[in-house]
Amino acid sequence: MSQHIIIIGAGPAGLAFARAYQSGAGRGAARITIIERQSQTVIAAPQPDGREIALTRQSVAMLERLGVWQQILADEAWPLTGARVIDSGTPFVMAIDAHATRGAARADAPMGMMVSNHIIRRALYDGLGFGSGHDNGIDLICDASVTGIERNAHGVTVQLDDGQAVSGDVVLAADSRFSAARAMLGIGVDMLPTGKSMLLARVEHALDHGGIASEWFDYGQTIAMLPLGPHMSSFILTVPHASAQHIGALTREALGDIITQRTDGRWGRCEARSPAHVYPLTMTYSHHFSGPRAALIGDAAVGMHPVTAHGFNFGLMGSVRLARAMHRSGDVANPAMLRGWGVRHRAATLPLYVATRSIVGLYTDEHVAAKLARRAVLRLGGTAPARALMSRLLSDKKPRVFGRLSA
Ligand SMILES: Cc1cc2nc3c(=O)[nH]c(=O)nc-3n(C[C@H](O)[C@H](O)[C@H](O)COP(=O)(O)OP(=O)(O)OC[C@H]3O[C@@H](n4cnc5c(N)ncnc54)[C@H](O)[C@@H]3O)c2cc1C
Repeated sequence: MSQHIIIIGAGPAGLAFARAYQSGAGRGAARITIIERQSQTVIAAPQPDGREIALTRQSVAMLERLGVWQQILADEAWPLTGARVIDSGTPFVMAIDAHATRGAARADAPMGMMVSNHIIRRALYDGLGFGSGHDNGIDLICDASVTGIERNAHGVTVQLDDGQAVSGDVVLAADSRFSAARAMLGIGVDMLPTGKSMLLARVEHALDHGGIASEWFDYGQTIAMLPLGPHMSSFILTVPHASAQHIGALTREALGDIITQRTDGRWGRCEARSPAHVYPLTMTYSHHFSGPRAALIGDAAVGMHPVTAHGFNFGLMGSVRLARAMHRSGDVANPAMLRGWGVRHRAATLPLYVATRSIVGLYTDEHVAAKLARRAVLRLGGTAPARALMSRLLSDKKPRVFGRLSA
């Protein structure tokens, strides 16, 4: 009898797993059911949510192999040629250029690509081939939430809020960092609410960014400007919740003024080209990534802080590796295979998660000691965690340039 994989959540991780499994499927492959609480219209044509995702070269290559990158249009992806980290009140800048990053095929290859989250979601969905007229091996149940999960030696049954039940061999929780499925599976999680929110908006600015992403640690705020099209960036402001809510409620015009002010005119006059989106920031790391007949993928396993831009990159990597492991095993619920995948995915994600957590603390602490510490981090570079961390923003290699900016 054919096997059956149940995925809870049709976000980027759930869809990426489905595509990775489907693309490697041969005869006897498992059937997939995806359960999603949003409607199919929303999943098929996701709307902008303010997130601009910095994809590593490795992620772009994976998406290409899955035939997903091909669904993204040329004017929906922007090259990232470098990154710089600025600490307020010091002339020191940590810079990372594309040549310093691992896997550069050519000297002029970008270090990564910027693509909006909703475009990635749409491309992943389109890549699955719903509506092609052929059976794509996937059933999508929308407008449904999971209310219970039961597992035994023979299989797993997922209960839905409309009274339906779906049975299969293995269940994958891909239902966000606040995963209800993870709790139903009895898997604990470390949660770190940061006390801050991120406000995101697309801005058009007078001075060009040259493809460089900037991360700027200022008093009481952290700002990132991520390069999109010419003179267009994603403005990201990290501040306490109340402040983010207040700014998020401003008119577009007032928002543009605030952005120009808060960026000190470094990008010239800024005009908001989208409404603001506000995300409270909580980092999460699950105690286990797998269990009997179950695995956690995407943010349900690792909920990264966006400062190191690795949430989706990790989610994609974990999903692709799990799909491959299932194909190699032939048994999608093989306990040793699930355990082995979980251990490897922890080893791949934990160092950057831990480093991100300490850097988030260092760079959001306004005490004098923390300010001095991060100044020293920028000045000394070399062995400092910030340098290693920021160099991994989009790569696995240390940055090449670390110098003093002329004032
Ligand atoms: C501001 C911001 C910037 C970011 N920038 C980057 C970046 O530059 N690079 C990067 O790699 N990552 C980045 N990320 C992280 C990235 O967006 C996430 O890692 C990614 O979206 C996680 O995908 P997911 O599928 O695991 O979860 P989600 O996107 O949260 O999707 C979960 C899905 O599950 C569904 N669901 C939830 N509960 C249930 C339920 N009970 N039953 C059924 N369905 C359910 C939801 O409706 C949703 O469709 C950023 C995140 C933020 C907030």
